[in-house]
Amino acid sequence: MEPVRVLNSGYDMHDVKFERYYSRAFFTSVSMPSSGVTNEGSDTRKRKRKRVYNLNEKEVLAENRHQEVRSVILKAHEAFQATVAPSLRNYITFDGRDDCVPSPSKSCSSMQNLGIEEGEVNFVELAALWQAPLYEFSFSKGQVDCEEEESRTTPMFNTIIKSSSRTSEVAECGACKYLLPKSCTFLISDISEVHRLIPGDSKDGFNLMVIDPPWENKSVHRKSLYPTLPNKYLLSLPVKQLAHADGALVALWITNREKLRHFAETELFPAWGVKMAAVWYWLKVTVEGTMVSPLDLAHHKPYECLLLGYLPSKIGSTSEESVQFTGSREHADLPDKFVLISIPGDHSRKPPLKSLLSKHIPGQRHAERGLELFARELSAGWTSWGNEPLRFQHLNYFRER
Ligand code: SAM
Repeated sequence: MEPVRVLNSGYDMHDVKFERYYSRAFFTSVSMPSSGVTNEGSDTRKRKRKRVYNLNEKEVLAENRHQEVRSVILKAHEAFQATVAPSLRNYITFDGRDDCVPSPSKSCSSMQNLGIEEGEVNFVELAALWQAPLYEFSFSKGQVDCEEEESRTTPMFNTIIKSSSRTSEVAECGACKYLLPKSCTFLISDISEVHRLIPGDSKDGFNLMVIDPPWENKSVHRKSLYPTLPNKYLLSLPVKQLAHADGALVALWITNREKLRHFAETELFPAWGVKMAAVWYWLKVTVEGTMVSPLDLAHHKPYECLLLGYLPSKIGSTSEESVQFTGSREHADLPDKFVLISIPGDHSRKPPLKSLLSKHIPGQRHAERGLELFARELSAGWTSWGNEPLRFQHLNYFRER
């Protein structure tokens, strides 16, 4: 998959800048190993390899899972290398214009660590200020519906903002300009306000949900990339209440930690009422097409997992307990152990899944009603929620077509 081209379909007059999306691949002071083999010989990795003989119980389980998918991933990567990889550099064109290149000298250092350039807003920090309720977006009149009466401005935080425009448009906050894709909806808020998205009638609910939680993680914490959330908060996400009456396909990103996988499968999905259906793998490659790290490293796999499950239809049920799965026909179409291959963008930025998942939505051939939870970007026709869903929407990330 080439994420930038997928994202571009949501805009009519702009394109995502390759060099902003792939900033880690092009401006690689934060290094990504250029090949899946080069680091094998380093002392650190040798030390890590020795630990294979002292795996604890969880590590053994993780290693067993890895062995189960290893050949599938290798096969997919071989096919990729034989077909797409040789022309990968041609897909990704960097036009070298000065205004496209992130300029460290222009950035304030703490924001720069987060990949946030001068003039871009750190929404998480802004929301914590006492002035937060006073911040507003302004739009061209008539283009945006919001909870308030028709107005040119709308509060930035804790307000559902819907751009019903059939073309992409710009929302402004002071000097900051954010590009909104066609027909998108978003809510910038803390998890305590996510209930605002629960529909009054479940026929208006979502039939496709992508969830990428801020799992507690030492690396994210150390680099202060974004705030993380303890698992207990995720248990209370109102996934069931957000779902469409005819059911929903739920896609959950998880890291490779066995503890997390176990929690997601045995506690989180059951608490949300989701039944596991498949596991997909996102294999991360370099611009040269090699894996970003050796496939068998114990603690740093070049792939991440996406757990997929279905929320059952609510139609015909009299109580929550009696909710049953219906229409298993479409569930059978969902492939298991599907491998998606792309060059990674910013830290934790996931490839867009919309086009891959929309054909597996349950129900009677419903139009897609997509929701991304913990989003950092918007998607045409979808609703995006998180404490920074406009993070990658700043005009700095785009160029005019
Ligand atoms: N899927 C995103 C992407 O592809 O760029 C990455 C999501 S990242 C793993 C998790 C997001 O959850 C971060 O943007 C983080 O700021 C946000 N987050 C953390 N705590 C939150 C909270 N209490 N309420 C809402 N969002 C939160």
